[in-house]
Amino acid sequence: MQRITILGSTGSIGVSTLDVIARHPDRYSIHALTAHTSVDELCRQCEQFKPRIAVVGSEPAARLLSQQLRQKDLKTRVEFGPAALAAVSSDPDCDVVMAAIVGAAGLVPTLAAARAGKKILLANKEALVMAGQLFMDAVQTNGATLLPIDSEHNAIFQCLPKNYRRTPSEQGVAKVLLTASGGPFLNRPVETLESVTPAEAVAHPNWIMGRKISVDSATMMNKGLEVIEAHWLFGASADQIEVVIHPQSVIHSMVSYIDGSVLAQLGNPDMRTPIAHALAYPERIASGVAHLDLTSIGQLDFKKPDFNRFPCLKLAFDALRAGGSAPAILNAANEIAVQGFLDGRTGFRMIDQLIARVMDDLPHIQVDSIEGLMEQDLEARSIASAYMNS
Ligand code: NAD
Ligand code: MG
Repeated sequence: MQRITILGSTGSIGVSTLDVIARHPDRYSIHALTAHTSVDELCRQCEQFKPRIAVVGSEPAARLLSQQLRQKDLKTRVEFGPAALAAVSSDPDCDVVMAAIVGAAGLVPTLAAARAGKKILLANKEALVMAGQLFMDAVQTNGATLLPIDSEHNAIFQCLPKNYRRTPSEQGVAKVLLTASGGPFLNRPVETLESVTPAEAVAHPNWIMGRKISVDSATMMNKGLEVIEAHWLFGASADQIEVVIHPQSVIHSMVSYIDGSVLAQLGNPDMRTPIAHALAYPERIASGVAHLDLTSIGQLDFKKPDFNRFPCLKLAFDALRAGGSAPAILNAANEIAVQGFLDGRTGFRMIDQLIARVMDDLPHIQVDSIEGLMEQDLEARSIASAYMNS
């Protein structure tokens, strides 16, 4: 029986993870569930999955949850705050951590899981974008196992040679090909992008996801973050990573080998497939996802991404090439800009402009501690907020 902590259990990935786990009560039990503010949903999950511990973001939320659990006569212990998140991910009573908090808030608890040598199912790409080297070092030093949940990286993982050692060229890998749907604005006239609304931006054509990643998909910053994620996961340089727009989201990504072979992983766009793959790896378990019916899809299309339409993708490649703190700065500025857009405080086109300005303003430096990275993250946030308010 594997005992699992789900960081961010009330989010889109968290809920899909619980859906897969509910299908295999003989294999998995829940050690801890966490949510930031969604107390009612977390209480409902506690009722169904009976975790030992539930963590929320604040003391008032913890009081409310305790009250609701008592009314249902549930024994789940309630805790709150960042230290409690790190504790449930490093607890000796937990074997597997699903890292599914959105944004930089997921870094510290995910790193705690790495330092405790856990099996980590990584959805929280921002953690790897911010602290790639430190995170990969912690995984290696402490014998943790890192399995990608992001559908593209999970696909690449499935297409790489067994026992891949993060040195593409030595193992016959020429390139990794990250597919991208192009999001809701792939064909919208570029000059009308300024006026798009948050509701239009979060309406993804193929995937149902949280609001932040949905906006990231509309700007293609999501793909940019995934390029950086692929660099850290697979040891691929910026030149060894190619983004291919594939609007049907059926091929989740590919690996191109030096002999001309290209291996792809296909499936319906449903995150329960990569989640089930990583949960059971190296075995296979049912996920609840319908079988792919290629003849009903009929056609698969591919095109090159256009940096004029999607400047955020270029900014991410630039940050990867710059190295050091640049990806952390990019990520922080993006989080502020996306929140500003979702709150109606700034236009869609301001997202890339704001990130570019913060990247220009803040010199990127080499950082060798989490504290140093957090300082860069905070500084980038404050510069981005100042621009947005001016
Ligand atoms: P979501 O917004 O639906 O859920 C986020 C979860 O994190 C919620 O449980 C929320 O309570 C918690 N949370 C939010 N802010 C927090 C904070 N400050 N402290 C602690 N907890 C906090 O997001 P999602 O779509 O499930 O995405 C989660 C992560 O997975 C993101 O990093 C995203 O990029 C990645 N991802 C998501 C998908 C997808 O299909 N949704 C696909 C690939 C990768
Ligand atoms: Mg993805």
